[in-house]
Parts: sequence; structure tokens; C-alpha cells
Amino acid sequence: MTLSNRELFIRYLGQTSENPYLLEIERAEGVFLYDTAGKKYFDLISGVSVSSLGHNCKNIKDSINEQVEKHLHLMVYGEYIQSPQVKLAEYICGLLPESINSVYFVNSGSEAIEGAIKLAKRYTAGTKMFSFRNAYHGSSHGALSLCGNEEFKNSFRPLLPEVYILDFNDYSQLDLIDKNTACVVFEPIQAEAGVIIPDGKYIKTLKQVCEKNNCLLIADEIQTGFGRTGKMFGFEHFEIVPDIVCFAKALGGGMPIGAFAASRDIMKSFTSNPVLGHITTFGGHPVCSAAALSTIKFINESGLVNDVYRKEKLFRKFLVHSKISEIRGRGLLLAIELNESTDVYKFIKQGLIEGFVTDWFIFHDSAFRIAPPLNITDDEIKMSCELIKSALNKI
Ligand code: PLP
Repeated sequence: MTLSNRELFIRYLGQTSENPYLLEIERAEGVFLYDTAGKKYFDLISGVSVSSLGHNCKNIKDSINEQVEKHLHLMVYGEYIQSPQVKLAEYICGLLPESINSVYFVNSGSEAIEGAIKLAKRYTAGTKMFSFRNAYHGSSHGALSLCGNEEFKNSFRPLLPEVYILDFNDYSQLDLIDKNTACVVFEPIQAEAGVIIPDGKYIKTLKQVCEKNNCLLIADEIQTGFGRTGKMFGFEHFEIVPDIVCFAKALGGGMPIGAFAASRDIMKSFTSNPVLGHITTFGGHPVCSAAALSTIKFINESGLVNDVYRKEKLFRKFLVHSKISEIRGRGLLLAIELNESTDVYKFIKQGLIEGFVTDWFIFHDSAFRIAPPLNITDDEIKMSCELIKSALNKI
């Protein structure tokens, strides 16, 4: 008996939830996903803040194909000069403040966080690390240790020691940061917490406290990076310059790549005591690097980022409904808060029937996510908002 892909998925793939979406997508184009029956869905989440240029983008595919013809993996990271990597690193540094001028490539967001916290410990010799309530920084042990949600962490203890959780905008807790601190890790806009934006004044003070204690401020730009919030990077909203910046998701335009960037002075701590302070076999894979360069070049040079606020306003204009109590966020990273009696999970399922994909947040269960490709058109915004309202009417 031949099993369907759905049956094979359930039987053979490690499952992470009792209720996976079970959508089987055959192809994707622009802002649309098409399932095996040919049904079309608006992708309003971009594979969770990944496909910022939509699906099947010609530029990205061309750079992938070009690199595939030249070579795939050659050597572990950091030994050979690989042209896609060096061009990408140069381009990323050109987008960042001058003081951040060295990039280390990895394969994912969690790995970027792992590398960044190791770098901070090695550079400062500090042992304490701070992160924030309901922060999500990844699922590997180090990144999970920084996660700001006890329920999510408790079954996996022991995790890293000396990790402390702060609350956004609580100035009194900043005294906990001391000379024995390696780093403070923060999301400029918390995504999985339900799109929470800290006060600008608080983030400036946090930066000053880090400077005073010689510890490093690490910005997790894994969801906010490359234009999603209306600026190239989320930290730019706060007029501060972090010491280390972590990227992944949108960087690769749909290919797996992550990175952390710092000053050359900080980064060089990985070269001695011990040598090979951080190792990765596939980090900055040439095909992913080529895809990443054409992705961020396009995002930067097309003017898309300048149009993100206008698109946010369109969503806010069209998404008026009695079941929507608040729209929170910045740019195209939005949490649509539903009123108490409306079940978000039911709404998401209804969305699949109507023909759009949205998502819930890991640490906030009364809102759904809007994070579409940045190149979604005005008409597509309008049509998808009509579908959202229609789904709300039916649940
Ligand atoms: N940091 C943030 C803010 C994230 O949203 C995520 C993933 O959702 C990560 C880190 C981890 O990235 P990855 O899933 O690529 O390991």
C-alpha cells in the first residue's frame, strides 16, 4: 500500500506539535503558496520572517544557479577564500555602522546567537548573561538558556548557568548588570512575545549601562533584520549601536544562513586561546552566501524598505473589525490582537479555508502574526485583509 505524503509526514518526520498545519505546498510564487490541489494561499508570514522578497524570486534563483555551476562546499569555514562569502561580508558591513566591520557566518539563527554569546564571554571574560522576559533566541542549549519563558525551558534543564531575565523598561533591574557580565542579548522588537517594542529611552540607557560595565550589547536581528520593521535593522529605531548583531532568516532569501557581526577587535578573540574559538563546517555555504548577497542587495537597492511604513498603514487601515482589539508592531512585523472571546487557533484554521496563511506567536496566544513578503503589493494587502475579515466573520 502506498502511503500519502501526509501519512508519511506523520509517520516518519519528528513531530513538534499535536496540530501541525499539514499544508502540502507544491509551488510558491511571489506572495502566494499553491497546494497540491492547486489551491492558492496568501503567505502572510513569509515562512516566519524569511521570504522578504516573496517566493521564487528570479534574482535569488539566478545567483543560486550560477554558484551551483561553480562549486558547492569546499572547506570548513574560515580557511579558504570563497568569493560569495567575502562579497556578502563586505556588503553586510556596508549596511552596518562603521564600528561593526567583521562578520562570522553560520547556518541558522540559533547558531548566530551561540557564536555571539561565546564571543562575548571570550572577549569580556565575564560570566553573566542577561536577556528579556518572553524573548526567543533559538532552540539550541545556549540560545534556549536565554529564552525568557520558564515553561519553555524547564523540561530541558540544566541549561547555561548565570543567565538572568530582565523586563523591558524596568530601570531598577539594570543594577544587576555588573563588571562580571559578558553580555545583554535583546530583540529590538520582540517577535515571539507578540511583537513587543521597548521604550527608546530604556534601550539607550541599557546601552550606557553595558558600556559602563564593559559588557557587550547583542542585538538579535534574526526576525527584525533587513527591512522588516521599516529600517534596515531594528536597532536603528533606537539610535544606538550594539556591539554584536545576529542575523539569519531573511538574510538567505529562503536559503539557510546566519551570521553575527562585531568589530574586528572583538571578533579576533576567536583566533587565539584557543585557536579556532568557533568552528562551523557549513557556515556561509557558498550557495547560501550567493543567495544572501542577491537578497540583501535587492532589499537595499530597490527602495523596498522605504515603502514598508506605508504598507503597514494599509494593513492598519483595512484591518478594522469588531473582533480585532489592537494592532501592534512596526513595519511589516505586526501582531493582530483579537478580543477575548475569539479563538486565534480557530481563526488560523479558518484562514486556511479562506486562502491565507498566518501564524500564532510562541509566547502570546491572543494575537496572530502578519509578516508578509516586503514586496507584497497594495492590491494584495487589500485582498488579504478582506479574507482576514471574512475568516473573522465565520468563527
Ligand atoms: N532569534 C529570533 C528572534 C527568532 O525569531 C528565531 C527563530 O524564530 C531565532 C533567534 C532562532 O533562529 P533559527 O530558528 O534559525 O535557529
